[in-house]
Amino acid sequence: MLSQKKLFLFDIDGTIAVGDTLYEGSRELLSYIEQIGGKAYYITNNSTKSGEDYVKKFKRSFGLDTVKEQFVTSGLMAVLFLKEHFAGKKIFVLGTASFLQELRGNGLLVTEEVEKDISCVLAAYDSELTYDKLVRTCQVLSSADIPFYATNPDLCCPCDFGFIPDCGAICGMLTAATGRTPVYLGKPAKEVCRMCMELSGFSPEETLVVGDRLYTDIACGINAGVETCVVYTGEATPEEAASSPYRPDYCFPDIAALFWALRKEP
Ligand SMILES: [Mg+2]
Repeated sequence: MLSQKKLFLFDIDGTIAVGDTLYEGSRELLSYIEQIGGKAYYITNNSTKSGEDYVKKFKRSFGLDTVKEQFVTSGLMAVLFLKEHFAGKKIFVLGTASFLQELRGNGLLVTEEVEKDISCVLAAYDSELTYDKLVRTCQVLSSADIPFYATNPDLCCPCDFGFIPDCGAICGMLTAATGRTPVYLGKPAKEVCRMCMELSGFSPEETLVVGDRLYTDIACGINAGVETCVVYTGEATPEEAASSPYRPDYCFPDIAALFWALRKEP
């Protein structure tokens, strides 16, 4: 039931905002959550921005005050996972220079070269992608039966003129060439929702995932056993939501409609 919800896990792009524009109703919904003693987290598959980057962006673009702990990015999920399972081991990474820098800053041993003793492969969104990087990644994936991880399965990300390839599309090329399929660490992995519940102390019944993409946002909530809400201001359409294997519990045209529905409930 919507009236039970205290912990709101929001996707950002296409859900509460687009680019630098906050959707109508987002600000009202966030103050409603504060009023009821709830908590908002932002779960995003964008691995190119850190929590600190998002705090600055929310202040600058939306005039919203946040703390970095409210942002759970696929990059953060990758860092936590690799620290737990591959500390001190060599990790081959396909990603931007700044993403590699962030992994190194977290004490991880990363390389972009085909070397001996590589323990796993991590692929991420890479705006600096070259054919040479793809070749090296294929070589590592083909030479040894080591685990293959990726930050997020999103096929595309929105831009000024439409869409450009995201991590899932890059992984599609690697899979086509090597037959290897990655395990994704960002949404829809249930750990994303679980971490937010652990950090905030709210139960699955008190939690709602709100997003615009069915196979990442809505699937993430379903995988974690929490209710989900789709808004039609981004990717998903009502037709897709009705026929998708990832069926949301609640559907609204936009975030403002979700806010009014919450306000109306006793
Ligand atoms: Mg989105």
